[in-house]
Amino acid sequence: MSAVRIQGVGVKLGDTQVLRDLSLTVAQGEFFVVIGPNGSGKTTLLRLLASLLSAGSDGIEIFGRQLNDYSRRELARILALVPQQVHMDFPFSVRETVLMGRSPHLGLMSFERVADLALAAEAMEFTDVSHLADRRLDQLSGGERQRVIIARAICQQPRLILLDEPTAALDPAHQIKILDLLERLRQEQDVTVIMVSHDLNLAALYGDRLLLLCDGQLDHVGPPIEVLERTRLERVYGCTMSVEADPVNGFLRISPVPARYREQID
Ligand code: ADP
Repeated sequence: MSAVRIQGVGVKLGDTQVLRDLSLTVAQGEFFVVIGPNGSGKTTLLRLLASLLSAGSDGIEIFGRQLNDYSRRELARILALVPQQVHMDFPFSVRETVLMGRSPHLGLMSFERVADLALAAEAMEFTDVSHLADRRLDQLSGGERQRVIIARAICQQPRLILLDEPTAALDPAHQIKILDLLERLRQEQDVTVIMVSHDLNLAALYGDRLLLLCDGQLDHVGPPIEVLERTRLERVYGCTMSVEADPVNGFLRISPVPARYREQID
């Protein structure tokens, strides 16, 4: 079954046509990475899938059911969004924030059960924030806060997790740790991962398939080796690129080329 099916979807916000005639399918259990230049519509696509935009949601199916047919609560039980930035008006602790992931699964006015507390503890362990459990969210570094928000999403036990540049604020060790965790959720629990990333190297390492957006349109979708083709990237990003496969392990290495090295590349 497909986790997401989008057919002929367009989104206009104000006077801007942000997404045009987008059609694609994401399989259940797939690690799907959305790439593209600034302003190409990546965040809008995630917001659309999370039902945060009223425009354009016709033509979207999530696990075989029209997105519009889900209630907010039903959607929150299967889908978690990790946005780029989270604003909280109230100084919640890390533990409280992570526990919020359980709320779609709780009855009205009911309190967390032992099982919910255990899930929160496990999610904090996975994301390496257990030692911060009693700290206030607004007093953490950007990278720590990001890991807490990812812990909250994991605690929600979604079938589909949408992440908007989840590793941008993280050091390399935490980047790999978080992405390995997402990969594990995918393998062990068949969770579908849709992640927006500017890091083309991480996209190549983790993505089963990549979607390259350009000006709100699908430029290409396919396996990393196909999408991350030098001339394609140069056309879409508008800069000189170097794309090489590591001779030892075959990893793709993608880098924009600074002016000072351009002669060596061409
Ligand atoms: P990306 O995530 O790829 O950087 P976005 O999806 O955030 O791109 O934005 C795509 C385009 O849509 C940008 O040109 C942005 O200015 C525009 N846009 C985003 N939100 C709105 C809005 N609420 N009203 C008008 N234009 C918007």
